Amino acid sequence: MKRRTPSTGKPSKNASGRENIQGRALTSNTTMKLQVDRGRLQAEIEELAKISDGEPPAVTRIVFSETDVRAREWFIQRCWEAGLDVDRDGVGNMFARWNGSEPDAPVVGTGSHLDAIPNAGKYDGVVGVLGGLEAIRALKRSGFQPKHSIELLLFTSEEPTRFGIGCLGSRLLSGTLTPDLARRLVDKDGASLEEVRLKAGFVEPLEDVELGRDYYKAFVELHIEQGPLLEKQKMPLGIVTSIAAPASFRFTIEGAGGHAGGMLMPDRKDALCAAAELILAIENAAKSSGAIDSVATVGICDVFPGAVNSVPSRVNLTLDIRDTSLERRDAAMRAIEAARQSIAAKRGVTIREELVNADAPAQCAPEVVEALTQSCAKHKLAFVSMVSRAYHDSLFMSRIAPVAMLFIPCRNGYSHRPDEYASPEDIERGVLVLAETLASLAA
Ligand SMILES: [Zn+2]
Repeated sequence: MKRRTPSTGKPSKNASGRENIQGRALTSNTTMKLQVDRGRLQAEIEELAKISDGEPPAVTRIVFSETDVRAREWFIQRCWEAGLDVDRDGVGNMFARWNGSEPDAPVVGTGSHLDAIPNAGKYDGVVGVLGGLEAIRALKRSGFQPKHSIELLLFTSEEPTRFGIGCLGSRLLSGTLTPDLARRLVDKDGASLEEVRLKAGFVEPLEDVELGRDYYKAFVELHIEQGPLLEKQKMPLGIVTSIAAPASFRFTIEGAGGHAGGMLMPDRKDALCAAAELILAIENAAKSSGAIDSVATVGICDVFPGAVNSVPSRVNLTLDIRDTSLERRDAAMRAIEAARQSIAAKRGVTIREELVNADAPAQCAPEVVEALTQSCAKHKLAFVSMVSRAYHDSLFMSRIAPVAMLFIPCRNGYSHRPDEYASPEDIERGVLVLAETLASLAA
């Protein structure tokens, strides 16, 4: 079993000693009475939302900022109160552990992230972390005693805000990103990941972050849907069976600038007109794939020199392209590549393309999906099977562990904005099913 660094000098003996206060374990899990403390969980979500650099109700928590560090300290305190041992690794992933009766057996994991993009809401990631904590507390209150240890994870930097790469913690944990590449990451102010993680107190070598394929027995992530489908179908729960994965690119289009009056149309190599054609070709590549799961987005378009009377000489574009099928996504990428070449030739401009990242989509593990399904059935809760169109830490956890996700509705499908909202009832149902699922996987 891999050893990690305990968070601050709290002796783990104390932490595990406190577990005994929770009452005696029942002999049979079938007698388990699970009760989610909805009020306490809501109060914690509200309290955490105050640890933010945003103007309320907006939440902003950028990885390794002072605010992020304070949120982590607050989280550790809650975990200790729940009688969990808290460890961490060099990139700042945190592991709050409830030791099972067979502590060396593979671990059942749950969790999500607490970092938030600028001007975000209270629920993205938070529901999976604090909901996971409440699920563990509910299991303890019920008298359940796990055989496999249950670990609550807080992943570092699921959001790409600071270093331009999402799921930093789970990428390193799963070996998808090498420590060498991670050390090269720099934020917009020129501070390296190495610098800021050490400053935030995460000093262990990045080489020790990766976990082997035998570490986790299963991993389940509870999350708000970040889309409108559950709400539209009036479904309380969604069981995720596959996770779409993004590929992202940067395009630089170089044409020729000039005076908007003096440069006549036949002589133009307008970079923005070429960009416009490319953007429409990108839209078409996704629309014509034949599947609703294919999506492609140009979210940034910077025009130089950006003057009203100047022909654009250079344009920078970003492309985010996602699908649940790697083949389909690759086919769309080939179509975009063909368009890039033909537009450049036709318009006499150069279009450079730079791959930022391309991750493979993931299929969820049938045994974890089944555990979630059974848990919904046990509590007579309806669910739909669905695709996660946003990516999550679970995408990377799926490289080293059998993974599935549980979605709850969020109002209007809104996420990454201050009015993001999930109802206390929906959160409670999610936590209940999560707890039941952890129990069945850890028994
Ligand atoms: Zn999230």
